[in-house]
Amino acid sequence: MTTNAVTIDSNSGAQTRAAFRDVQLYTPDRGAVAIDLSDNTNRWGAPPAALRELRASPESALARYPDVYAASLKEALAAYVRADCPTVSPAMIVTDCGSDDVLDSAIRAFAESGDRLAMLQPSFPMVPLFARMNGLSVDPIPLNASYDLDVDRLLAGDPAIVYLCSPNNPTGTIVPRATIEAVIARARGVVIVDEAYVEFSGASVVDLVARSPRLLVVRTLSKAFGLAGLRVGYGIGNATLIAEVEKSRGPYKVSAASERAAVAALTEDLDWVRARVADAVTNRATLVTALRERGLDVLPSASNFLLAPMKDARGIARGMRDRGVAVRAFSDLHCDIPALQFTNGSALRISVGPWPELEAALAAFDEARAACG
Ligand SMILES: *Cc1c(COP(=O)(O)O)cnc(C)c1O
Repeated sequence: MTTNAVTIDSNSGAQTRAAFRDVQLYTPDRGAVAIDLSDNTNRWGAPPAALRELRASPESALARYPDVYAASLKEALAAYVRADCPTVSPAMIVTDCGSDDVLDSAIRAFAESGDRLAMLQPSFPMVPLFARMNGLSVDPIPLNASYDLDVDRLLAGDPAIVYLCSPNNPTGTIVPRATIEAVIARARGVVIVDEAYVEFSGASVVDLVARSPRLLVVRTLSKAFGLAGLRVGYGIGNATLIAEVEKSRGPYKVSAASERAAVAALTEDLDWVRARVADAVTNRATLVTALRERGLDVLPSASNFLLAPMKDARGIARGMRDRGVAVRAFSDLHCDIPALQFTNGSALRISVGPWPELEAALAAFDEARAACG
């Protein structure tokens, strides 16, 4: 492979790396809309102590560089994660500008150009993008009818990186703990488990970092914590593994204002977060019932969103947007789940928020579906 080849773009004169050439700019449809249920952020807002700290930021938080590796944030995160894994220390945590950057930093640290990354299909679409930008090839393993995967198939070809997301975006389903245990027991590369939605499932595998030196659990404050705009993500793993991710991350990735606000949320607002998570879990069940009453074969979700396979999801999402509600449409979720095979991979993903928003979404859905015929 000629991975070192460069091309000269005839328009700009800029040189583009080979692995980068076919990558498209990520441009989600993010026009203003009254009710945005498209990105799984916290529809109840942001934790009050975080808002207070952001408003009270001193001038030095703007004029000076932040702490190089966000030491106080690591302390606060370690205390939070200890609920799931009592042996976690700040040295077992790396922070970054969103968990997207933790994923990118980890791929860069542990894989050579030309290596393979194995992951579920369907799953978080940013990961194949980061893999390709880093020169890796991607092996997609279809989610099976039991919402599980074939470990032999996942590890065939000895991938440098295995990426699993649980609860999985966009299906909302859990990867069984026994499957993750089998993967970390047998993989020779690094195993990344993305727990962006773990607060809604209560099914963390972070305790396994005490057992496996190759497991990196990735989390974020963008979803349950309501802080997507601050861009704070983190990774948890064995201290040696984490030191390599931190090297790849580089200095100053979390801003001083973000660190202040995030520490306040983690130390003062856990009750706020838990209450919003409980609301989301309650509303999720009610929304599942409402969608099933409409004849939809909704996947079982352990997250703050639902995936509803349906034909012409794109047309219905467009109709809903015209009525002031944004949801995410997919047309290519190919795997072995019968409901998705039936729609040829077409589905809507709907974030769970306060009930009045979901009621408005159901009304918009009914109208859009009637209009689509
Ligand atoms: C939203 C999401 C992230 C998060 O991103 P940030 O960069 O931390 O905002 C990571 N993984 C998955 C699966 C997600 O859905």
